[in-house]
Amino acid sequence: MDFTKVKNALSARGFKVSCFESAREAADYLNAQIDGTTVGFGGSMTLKEMGLYDLLSGHNTVLSHWNVPDGVDAATLRAQAAVSDHYLLSANGIAETGEIINIDGAGNRVSSALYGHKKVWIVAGKNKLALTYDEALWRARNIAAPRNAQRLHAKTPCAVKADQCYDCKSPGRICRALTVLWGAMTGSDIEVVLINEELGY
Ligand code: SF4
Repeated sequence: MDFTKVKNALSARGFKVSCFESAREAADYLNAQIDGTTVGFGGSMTLKEMGLYDLLSGHNTVLSHWNVPDGVDAATLRAQAAVSDHYLLSANGIAETGEIINIDGAGNRVSSALYGHKKVWIVAGKNKLALTYDEALWRARNIAAPRNAQRLHAKTPCAVKADQCYDCKSPGRICRALTVLWGAMTGSDIEVVLINEELGY
């Protein structure tokens, strides 16, 4: 996939951008860039599939509520991740026009994308890209969210077939907030890492 168009659009909106052919190359890059620091993880199948928790834990303090050591709970890890120097997450949709879309339930992931870290890394496979903002929004709501609901065994209509969003009012609704990064937040350092493989949802 040619990332030229989306790379230019993201750069014009103030994001740093790096592109890789494989998840392995991207993981090696992140492993070299992030060293001797605290790293928060948003819940992400992309980060999991890339093995980044194990890789970065070798020389950083990594705080991930998907990797809970004995004697700690997920809420504590979410709170610690919120004040880490670096924060890693993926995106639910990225438009080739440069908007980055995320949907969240607890809010830890989207809030950290907006504020509070020295550096934010948004790591995304080619499957997260869509031609337009409307299509990226559609994919976030109708592909990413239902598949995450299914993974979480949420008691929601979308989790049965993971086929579409039903805009449910279920108590178990996982979609509680939607953020659109129109540009890198003022004073932030956000790098988008694009990978020419399918990763996560
Ligand atoms: S709003 Fe409800 S139906 Fe739609 S994706 Fe989220 S959990 Fe599923």
